[in-house]
Amino acid sequence: LKPAPFEYLAADTLDQAVALLQDRGAEAKLLAGGQSLVPLMNLRLARPQSLIDLNPAKELAYVREQDGALTIGAMTRHHHVASSGLIREHAPLLAAAAANIGFPAIRHRGTIGGSCAHADPAAEMPLVALALGATFVVASSRGVRRLPADGFFVSHLTTALEPDEVLSEVTFPKPPKSDGWAFEELSRKAGDFVTVAVAVQVSVANGRVGRLEVALAGVAERPLKVPTGELSGRTLDEAFYGEIAERAGHLVAGPANGHGADDRAQVVRVLTERAVRRAVATAGQG
Ligand SMILES: Cc1cc2nc3c(=O)[nH]c(=O)nc-3n(C[C@H](O)[C@H](O)[C@H](O)COP(=O)(O)OP(=O)(O)OC[C@H]3O[C@@H](n4cnc5c(N)ncnc54)[C@H](O)[C@@H]3O)c2cc1C
Repeated sequence: LKPAPFEYLAADTLDQAVALLQDRGAEAKLLAGGQSLVPLMNLRLARPQSLIDLNPAKELAYVREQDGALTIGAMTRHHHVASSGLIREHAPLLAAAAANIGFPAIRHRGTIGGSCAHADPAAEMPLVALALGATFVVASSRGVRRLPADGFFVSHLTTALEPDEVLSEVTFPKPPKSDGWAFEELSRKAGDFVTVAVAVQVSVANGRVGRLEVALAGVAERPLKVPTGELSGRTLDEAFYGEIAERAGHLVAGPANGHGADDRAQVVRVLTERAVRRAVATAGQG
């Protein structure tokens, strides 16, 4: 399989990528790890006239602690996200989810920016960006915008990015170290995209729920947050676990990936309850 002919352009810096994208217009595509785009091009489902390669732009690959947040350059590979000491210390949920992406070869090429811009509804990075309240920093010739993860993922393979915008950085607020967290996923076999995944971040005080974030992947055309607002302050009893599982099950949109909606809703209930229990069990041990 070979892609349709295209013009190859190397961007050495973010500014250069922005300028090339502005110049070549909507017929151009950015190339990050190529783990989603290249297969689409080989199948001729994507036929960009120009390919703007971000790999030479080394300034886009970093993990930093800055102003109480973790800032991660868009070209940071999944493997680096999974193994970074800073991320494992301050956002272990993110590191654990990254370690579950595909296979080692995919994780060594694929990037956090490419995954979030690609917006596969079953992908791990968009899921955790939503759960942890990440912000996407995007650049274009019109300047820089900061877009919250809530609202960034619009639909299947569609984000709030404009065609002339480059995602340059993803910023994660650092959760308190006493928070509990858990990541659970079900896939047909190791390395596959998930059928369903659940990401949970929770704070617990005096046997009661504090802040609770639960996000799901694989259940709709984009990652979804389970509504948890008024569960704050609830006692951690069986009724609480049952309710959060029910709420998650209600979000299941319909059949996908060959599984029926009822089966999927049941899987979502079970995985959510398991993940919330695990997250609560690890809370307060920071
Ligand atoms: C066999 C296989 C298994 C996989 N399994 C999983 C899995 O289990 N979980 C999972 O989440 N993913 C999985 N993936 C996908 C992988 O995570 C990709 O890395 C990811 O989807 C895209 O990242 P990339 O860096 O390769 O982006 P690319 O493929 O280079 O680009 C993807 C899209 O994003 C755009 N883009 C890239 N970077 C930017 C940017 N900085 N700003 C704006 N737009 C940009 C591109 O133009 C393109 O449209 C798998 C892939 C393969 C081939």
